[in-house]
Amino acid sequence: MKNKKDIRALSKEQLREFFVENGDKAFRGNQVYEWLWSKSAHSFEDMTNISKETRQMLTDNFVINHIEVDTMQRSLDGTVKNAVRLHDGLIVESVLIPTDSRTTACVSSQVGCSLDCTFCATARLKKMRNLNPDEIYDQVAAINKESLLYYNHKLSNIVFMGMGEPLMNYNNVLKAIDKITSPEGLGMSPKRITVSTSGVPKMIKKLADDEVKFNLAVSLHSAIEEVRSKIMPFSRAFPLNDLKEALEYWYAKTKRRITYEYVVWDGINDTKEAINALVKFCKYVPCKVNLIEYNPIDDGEFQQANPQAIDDYISILEMNDIVVNVRRSRGKDIDAACGQLANKS
Ligand code: SAH
Repeated sequence: MKNKKDIRALSKEQLREFFVENGDKAFRGNQVYEWLWSKSAHSFEDMTNISKETRQMLTDNFVINHIEVDTMQRSLDGTVKNAVRLHDGLIVESVLIPTDSRTTACVSSQVGCSLDCTFCATARLKKMRNLNPDEIYDQVAAINKESLLYYNHKLSNIVFMGMGEPLMNYNNVLKAIDKITSPEGLGMSPKRITVSTSGVPKMIKKLADDEVKFNLAVSLHSAIEEVRSKIMPFSRAFPLNDLKEALEYWYAKTKRRITYEYVVWDGINDTKEAINALVKFCKYVPCKVNLIEYNPIDDGEFQQANPQAIDDYISILEMNDIVVNVRRSRGKDIDAACGQLANKS
């Protein structure tokens, strides 16, 4: 049997040419392209307005390397977690997070992760490989279908806060976002997409140079070098001053404010000194701070700080006119919350 090609590696133009070369109309290429992308078909059999003979011809020549939802879990709070199987058998997770006003997809960019944040379950998996653009796109399309099924409306937002470091898989993440935002894909607005990075300065500058239109979030967790490099060891290679410069560069080019993600832990960053350092860091570029609830991943090296420490953060940030939100965690009962994605099932 010949080695069949993944049909989704073809551009629309190539698909049109394929049909012409095979004695059909170029237009057939448009129809199939629509099935492959905006309708997210998993098999040629799904393509009901394409003749049986043509579907057979496609089956003889191509495969569709679509991801398959392997297991789906639903949390008591409505959060849905998909473990999806990739064509080579590896698994990644993505999450649908519903609220009253929106549904958000939290998607993965790598199998495992390139980085080593000590508080994150995904970091323990190590990086197996980057996801390709289709695999990222498919996660979003799958969640969009579930959103329609369970919540009766389309997906409204996407965050790249699942497994992996998106900026260490730069090209594929950007290609996937192109498809997600294209009218021929899911037609979503880039304003509703947030890429979260642990802070890779060079790549943040590249985003600015590439004039991306989506939002940027940075997992800061500490604005004190020593502390940050302890809990996020990779960051020794990316000092806070480089991060600051990259963020200034981003803001100068995009005029879009940054979101800092920040967890407050007992005995790690729950001091006035830590808060003051954050306040100082927040003055560099327009930003807002999301204080994220800690999701325990093991038996206690990290503990959520006491509520008084969180209140101190909120009041001191607000006193300094810095916007701060507290993000409750969702889907904890099914290990779907931030930092918990570790293919447990
Ligand atoms: N690599 C990217 C995206 C994945 S992590 C990044 O670092 O931003 C998504 C968010 O979850 C990050 O802000 C991360 O710091 C946070 N996170 C990781 N582990 C967590 C945990 N156990 N509890 C709460 N948040 C966590």
